[in-house]
Parts: sequence; C-alpha cells; structure tokens
Amino acid sequence: MTRSANETTQHFLHQAFDVLGVDEQMRTVLITPSRELRVELTLRRDDGRLDDFIGYRVQHDDSRGPFKGGLRFHPNVDIEEVRSLASLMTWKTAVVGIPFGGAKGGIQVDPRQLSPRELERLTRVFVRQIHELVGPERDIPAPDVNTDAQVMAWFFDEYSRLHGFSPGVVTGKPLGLHGSAGRLSATGRGCMFAIREALLEAGSELKGQRFVVQGFGNVGSWSARLLHARGARILAVSDSKGGIFSGDGLDIPAVLEHVDSHGTVVGFPGARAISNEELLVTECDVLVPAALGGVLTATNAPQVRAKYVLEAANGPCTAEADEILEQRGVTILPDIYANAGGVTVSYFEWVQNLQNFRWDEAKVNEELDKTMTTAYRKIRDIQRAHDISMRKAAFVLAIREVKAATETRGME
Ligand code: NAD
Repeated sequence: MTRSANETTQHFLHQAFDVLGVDEQMRTVLITPSRELRVELTLRRDDGRLDDFIGYRVQHDDSRGPFKGGLRFHPNVDIEEVRSLASLMTWKTAVVGIPFGGAKGGIQVDPRQLSPRELERLTRVFVRQIHELVGPERDIPAPDVNTDAQVMAWFFDEYSRLHGFSPGVVTGKPLGLHGSAGRLSATGRGCMFAIREALLEAGSELKGQRFVVQGFGNVGSWSARLLHARGARILAVSDSKGGIFSGDGLDIPAVLEHVDSHGTVVGFPGARAISNEELLVTECDVLVPAALGGVLTATNAPQVRAKYVLEAANGPCTAEADEILEQRGVTILPDIYANAGGVTVSYFEWVQNLQNFRWDEAKVNEELDKTMTTAYRKIRDIQRAHDISMRKAAFVLAIREVKAATETRGME
C-alpha cells in the first residue's frame, strides 16, 4: 500500500491516538488543518515572458501559539505534501515545548531555473498574496528546502513595506538583518544533540561512531560538520547529483571546500563515487537522511545496515519502512524530535526580534542543548512507560500537549 506523505503522517498520529485512547471526534479536530491557502503567482521573467506558479500556505494548528513553519521552493511541492509538513510542525513545536503551532508553505517551482532577480520577484509576489494571513503574532515562516536567509530577507522586506517594520514575521533571516546567531547551524546541531543523547543512554559516545549522511544542504552539511568535529567518522555524504564514500571517513572541512568551489560533493578527490540508493544501505552506526521525504521504503528498509536512523529530513521513512526498521531493532530518532533544532532557534530568533535584544551564539547553543536534551528525556520516559518506539512516544508527547491546549482554550 502506497501512502501519500500526508497519509503517512496520519498513520503515525493514529498509532499514538491508539496509545492514548483519543476518541474519533478529537482525532478529527487534531488532524484537520485550520486553514489552507492556494495562490496564483504570476511572474514576469527577465526576458519579458509571463509565467504562472502555484504557492501554498497550510496553517495546521495554533492552539499552543502562532502558526510556524518553513517555506519550500521545489517542483514536487503540492497541497498533500504541504499539508503533511504543516501537521508535522504542530507536533514538532509541541515535542520541544516551544509556544508555536504548525504551518508550512511552498511554491511549486525549480528555483534553479530562475535568475536571482526572478527568484526575488517570485518571493515578493508570494508575500503579497499571503501577507494578510501571516505576521509576527499570526504565522511566522522560515527557510526550508531551497529557501535561505536571502529569501527570508526579501520576505521580511516585502511584508514590512505592507505592514511597517516587522522583523518577527519570518525567522532564519541574515545575521545582519535581525537574524539570530546560531540559526544557520541549528537544525544540524539539534540532530547532533539528539543522537548524542541516544548514544549516551546506550553507554556510548559520538566519538568513533560511523555516520552516513544523505543530503549535503543546510541540515546535512551542518550535521556532518558538527559530528566530524566531535570525532565521529562520516563514511559517506551525498547530494542530488550523487554521493561519495570513504571507509576511513571523509575529511568534512575539505568536502565543504570542494562543495564551495564545485557546487556538489561529487568528484571529491580520494573518495569512491556511490549512488544515493547505495548510500542508504551502506553499513554504519547512524544513517542520517537529510534530504527529502519518503526515501526509506519497504524496498530498501530490509537492507538498511544501521543501528540508528536519525531523521534530519522531514518524513524520510514511509509507514512501511518505519515498521520494518522497528521490527529489525533499528532505533529511529523521529523527525518531529530530531530536526526540531531549527524551529527551536527560530523561536529564539523571534523572541530576540520581539525584545529588540541580541543573544550571543554561546547562549543560543546552550539553550538549544537544554531544549533538545529535555525533550529527549520526556520522549524516552514515555517510550519506556508504554514500551513503544521513539516515534510513537514523540507523537504521544505532542498530542498530549496540543490536545490539552485545545481543550483548555475551549471549543464552541
Ligand atoms: P537544502 O535545500 O539546504 O538541502 C537539501 C539537500 O538535499 C541538498 O544537498 C540537495 O542536493 C539534496 N538533495 C535533493 N534531492 C536529493 C535526492 N533526490 N537525493 C539526495 N540528495 C538530494 O535543504 P535543508 O534545509 O537542508 O533541508 C533538508 C531536509 O531537512 C528537508 O527535509 C527539510 O524539510 C528538513 N528540515 C530543514 C530544516 C532547516 O532548518 N533548514 C529544519 C527542519 C527540517
């Protein structure tokens, strides 16, 4: 049975609803998105032609605080994917206990086909189409796949033209433009803290562990860099063009330099070329999917040779893969916990914007460590109490929080 990304998220939710004995009506209330917006984006290309794109913003739940979630620019963006990602944000913010709800947005576009000027115009058109429904106390977007600090700067500027100076409308902004120290590395750093806690619990440590990382964008490259700096061996990394492998472990700072000059990890001297499919089944201690969703499936999950799967990406496991890996004794650190470092530091950025006050990077990293460690312990306690997987335990924790907020606020 092939489930869509959104059906997969709902499948995981129902497993946790079952653990908690949540009734049908409340399940529907918690699953159904609060608002879904689909907008037309007409762009005048540099050569004068007109092009039409479709943009989305799904606001899933705001019972615990303003909607919060990234913006993705990718050809595969559609309403189903955005719905699923918006829902994951609701549970993610609840797992790490930050006062936000969940949302997600995106544009169905391959940004590599646009010039920088076109990308800026498209971003600004999108802001003009959705500005009434976002805002520092309503809905706060952030970077995701193919969107970065520059895109956030354009978003902040366009929104501020319409509503006055509003740095808190987006997070992940450039450091010189109301961004937060530590935001760029936050998701990768959070992943590193997550696996550190899991290894500690198993009486082990990061040093000497063998990692394989799929995706070498923001999350993958920062995870690899921080893990490498702590003595982990990064056996393989990849991007959309292909992967590289070295049994002795890759020199990650040198790979980063190679990417700076060549735009890809492919061709890194001294490493063997491997495909993305091969990479996922490479023997290692920790497999880190840090690219797109749905990469671990019923087909390749039986061949995964890792003790842990650290879900740096959103939704990398299908429901079938999740079950197979669980049965095979692989510990999955689920996306709604593992990659929550980004939204956590986004929260710190938002707090700094509202207070017009700056934290230094040491404070940001220290607070992030506390948040990730506390959440790990809460999930682990639930996991032990119910004898369930870390994913189910994380959803149980999140559902408890969101359900309590929904009920306490009241429904008419
Ligand atoms: P990014 O655009 O910076 O990087 C994506 C990487 O994946 C690139 O290296 C790209 O080449 C690679 N990639 C794309 N298609 C691939 C394929 N088919 N096979 C292998 N590699 C492929 O994006 P990012 O911000 O690093 O996000 C990666 C994942 O992490 C996404 O699932 C995103 O939702 C999730 N995430 C990101 C953040 C964040 O703060 N950026 C926070 C939480 C979760």
